[in-house]
Amino acid sequence: MDETVGLYVHIPFCERVCPYCDFAVEAARESTADGQGSAEWRIKEDEYVDDLLRELALRAPDFPGHRLASLYFGGGTPSLFRPESLARIKQEALRLFSSVDGPVEITLEVNPSTVERERLAGFKSETGINRLSVGVQSFDDSLLKALGRAHRSEESHATLEAARSAGFENLSLDLIFAALHQTPAMFEADLDHALSWKPEHLSTYELVIEEGTPFGLAAEQGKIRSYSQDAAADLLDQMVLRLEASGYRRYELTNHARRGFEAVHNRRYWERSPVLGIGVGAHSSDPRSLHHPYGRRPSNPRDRMTWSRRLRSGEVAGLETEPLTLEQAISEACFLSLRTDEGLSSMEFEKEFGHSPRDFFGSAIDRLLEDAFLREGRDGHLSLTESGRRLADWVASEFILDEV
Ligand code: SF4
Repeated sequence: MDETVGLYVHIPFCERVCPYCDFAVEAARESTADGQGSAEWRIKEDEYVDDLLRELALRAPDFPGHRLASLYFGGGTPSLFRPESLARIKQEALRLFSSVDGPVEITLEVNPSTVERERLAGFKSETGINRLSVGVQSFDDSLLKALGRAHRSEESHATLEAARSAGFENLSLDLIFAALHQTPAMFEADLDHALSWKPEHLSTYELVIEEGTPFGLAAEQGKIRSYSQDAAADLLDQMVLRLEASGYRRYELTNHARRGFEAVHNRRYWERSPVLGIGVGAHSSDPRSLHHPYGRRPSNPRDRMTWSRRLRSGEVAGLETEPLTLEQAISEACFLSLRTDEGLSSMEFEKEFGHSPRDFFGSAIDRLLEDAFLREGRDGHLSLTESGRRLADWVASEFILDEV
């Protein structure tokens, strides 16, 4: 049994809310009035951290004896908080869970902006951040503008420069593709710029236009259009070839890394290792226990006031979730493993569930092999082919087991 835990901390504030964003976020304009923020903002920041600490104390007993393997400050824009605020959370986490032997990966998401740039040294020395995930998205100003992003390309370059100067040796860049008027040439130029910084890791996301967002509304009104599946797949092929040739392994569908720099925290989700998520809208992956033999996947309310009110009255914010059933655990084990380049080990699966994947999904596996979406090793090991990776969501749907 995995007796380690990854802690995810959600900070739901951003300079402004991008029109395609579907995360639990709210605008926090007053945060950057001066490098320290207004008095009002500091109270909001301190109160939010106090609530996070309440939640951490209430939830830690659900991960008994677990040791901290990774800490991830995500959002939102967690770098809008001061280094000392994030350090309070880290210290409490290390008090409640002792750390694993060796370094704990501590990631901070940052967006390119002057205020955050000036804090980078503090995040390193005071908070102990050892990995930055920079929300570059694109180096093309026309695309950044169309996406409603607050920053421009010049700021991304300045932030990456400042990150290297501050001594960060593990940088991840977020890049978006198949977005609005982006052309293959524009995307190639984005890859050129990104690779010129020699990042250790790249996360690449196709723009998804979600219902209920301003972009969703604009799409309904015919003002913007999604990329066609074929055109998006072409950009994906272009990117995978380019990144592979530059020494990056696509170790998960949307993640590429130089060897040894695969994200420790992100891996936990695909490996179904315990993750405690705290903060507005955060999701957790609770470990197996006597009462929950296949674990639980609780998620917090997306409304900050509801989340905060529950914690202040001593309640755990989001535990309404039912424990996983055997069928859900089996499906999850298959589709999450298939996202990774290691794929699904039939032997591991059998050790966990007492049967091989073929015992549950034999005919689906045969169909997928025949259509060349899956490959199967001699020991029954399954992984996606390139065509399978292109249609990964659809392939995943073939591994959903009906409840008995
Ligand atoms: S910066 Fe990121 S988290 Fe914040 S609103 Fe934009 S897309 Fe959402």
